[in-house]
Amino acid sequence: MSQPAPIFVTQPHLPPLEEFVPYLEKIWSNKILTNGGPFHVQLEQALCDYLGVEYLSLFTNGTVALVTALQALRITGEVITTPYSFVATAHSLLWNGIKPVFVDINPVTLNLDPARIEAAITPQTTAIMPVHVYGHPCDVDAIQDIADRYNLKVIYDAAHAFGVRDAKDRSVVLNGDLSVLSFHATKVFNTFEGGAIVCRNAKIKKHIDHLKNFGFVDEVTVAAPGINGKMSEFNAALGMLQLQHIDQALARRQQIDALYRERLQGIAGLRCLADAGEKRSNYAYFPILVDDEYPLSRDALFQKFRDENIYVRRYFYPLISEFPMYRGLPSAHRDNLPVATAAANQILCLPIYPALEREQMDRVLELLIVP
Ligand SMILES: *Cc1c(COP(=O)(O)O)cnc(C)c1O
Repeated sequence: MSQPAPIFVTQPHLPPLEEFVPYLEKIWSNKILTNGGPFHVQLEQALCDYLGVEYLSLFTNGTVALVTALQALRITGEVITTPYSFVATAHSLLWNGIKPVFVDINPVTLNLDPARIEAAITPQTTAIMPVHVYGHPCDVDAIQDIADRYNLKVIYDAAHAFGVRDAKDRSVVLNGDLSVLSFHATKVFNTFEGGAIVCRNAKIKKHIDHLKNFGFVDEVTVAAPGINGKMSEFNAALGMLQLQHIDQALARRQQIDALYRERLQGIAGLRCLADAGEKRSNYAYFPILVDDEYPLSRDALFQKFRDENIYVRRYFYPLISEFPMYRGLPSAHRDNLPVATAAANQILCLPIYPALEREQMDRVLELLIVP
């Protein structure tokens, strides 16, 4: 019997190739490849319209956007952040010479726990960098309240949160001083590589636009030690095309999410993360928590999937605070992070992407129901 095809946790959404050809022909004929060309201008406007924001600056990827966001607000000293994220969140702090201070997460949302932030604030604290994990909105009001009381900036890592609405039905990226998106191949909306900073006003947008172009203000004026963070015309053109397919892709993700939830209901030892609601979530991931009541340990279940050629992922294990460049920090100690430590040991992300077929979902579900 032949092995069934492998199933990956995600599969990038690609529009039909022939639809991209006219975009490429435009680039080839006008010969503008980067530096704020016509597709770059178009995509910034189209994303502002789609996301319901006024100011957005495109980037070559989400990590350079995070690094630049910290530069734009001149953040120094210590920044409070979560250990339960992709490593780029904390790396962006180290690249700016900032000390990350890890704070534990909420056991229900797995986002930074506002109730634990105040105890971690010191005279060196200048900002909070929370993450909307799996696209579920943070408790943005509680975080803003603390930031206001202690005069701290808030930079959201919104890499998972494309198109997400907050509890007040506003675009989630309108929260904080800045929000950073990623358009990496594995994300809900992708430009192969790409990212963006969403900001509050024209002045800061201009500053960010200078920073991503070496600090150039005009041909002969360099106003800041900037970086090359620009998005190319190729990626921006692809973004314009991807936007035409995004609503369909999100609708399909929602169907998959609903089916998983229905079929996994009542299985002892498996817990789905709370549904953030129809409009609030983008169904970027399908995380489940495997606890002691389940007949297999999380890692035994993970291995069982691997043996069947199903590449489920343990996002986020290990915690960022476990990596060698972080684990010496006092805040990285496991005693400080019991909820994040437990979640990292229980989490498993199931395959979810628009092209996932019903038979493939059945293979995943069978393995979970009869382990
Ligand atoms: C993907 C991701 C990033 C990094 O984005 P890139 O575009 O890959 O550089 C940062 N933070 C989180 C939470 C992510 O998932």
